[in-house]
Amino acid sequence: MSDARRTAVVTGASRGIGRAIAQALADDGFQVAVNYLTRDLEARELVDKISAGGGAARAFRANVSDPAECARLVEGALAAFGRLDVLVNNAGISQTGVPIADLPAEDWERMLRINLSGPFYLIKAVLPHMRQRRSGHIVNLSSNVTQRFPATYGAYTVSKAGVDALTRVLAKEEGPNGIRVNAIAPGPIATDMFAQARALMGPERADAFVKSIPLGRTGRPEEIASAVRFLVSEAASYLTGQVVYVNGGGPGG
Ligand code: NAP
Repeated sequence: MSDARRTAVVTGASRGIGRAIAQALADDGFQVAVNYLTRDLEARELVDKISAGGGAARAFRANVSDPAECARLVEGALAAFGRLDVLVNNAGISQTGVPIADLPAEDWERMLRINLSGPFYLIKAVLPHMRQRRSGHIVNLSSNVTQRFPATYGAYTVSKAGVDALTRVLAKEEGPNGIRVNAIAPGPIATDMFAQARALMGPERADAFVKSIPLGRTGRPEEIASAVRFLVSEAASYLTGQVVYVNGGGPGG
């Protein structure tokens, strides 16, 4: 299948924020490559939902921490849809609340491989196509932990600080090629990942944290998706190299 419609690859789109982004881009007319790792049923269900609504989507299993699988994901999307306009590096993991002193090296390495090397591998895979078209949008999911530096989230925070740096450097390198690169740094968003963090913090501390955010609540995945929608649209045509905080007004304490 190949047509003139714009195409987006969204990693980690089986659930949570990635799923909302994939749905929002499909609603905007994008053909969507729905990447997932383990939840094939959820990914297929989303593809069916998008197709039933008149859109085009395909599910692609790929582990973003593996460069060969990233290359295959991009090749698969190109073969299915004929073009590639948007990459959303959303797939990510968080970590159990372990101080750096006690963090096993394997956990540190796994975090960086998935959250930081994954986006790097995918960026390397999409750039040749975007450069050839002299157009493209890359959106990386960071986190507002890069403002909070919370204890016991060392590897996660370092991975997201790396994502911010990757975003800013890449925007400088690829701007002359017509490619815009931005990051979104969410506050706490109601997904499985935040449910895990809440369980670790305990309900009292988690509720106090959420109350310390100016808007006084967690965000919804759709509230991140609407920011992605804007960043990859013509409305954001002069916007690149930025980390956009979508965090209810502040990182909270
Ligand atoms: P989530 O609910 O835990 O979902 C994670 C998604 O990533 C799933 O679709 C999962 O696939 C996929 N995934 C995990 N490891 C993968 C791998 N190695 N290869 C491919 N896919 C993989 O997470 P979320 O809350 O939606 O978070 C999405 C992004 O936003 C992450 O980068 C996260 O760091 C960032 N973020 C989240 C929050 C928050 O409060 N939720 C705050 C700030 C930043 P399967 O379902 O197939 O396992």
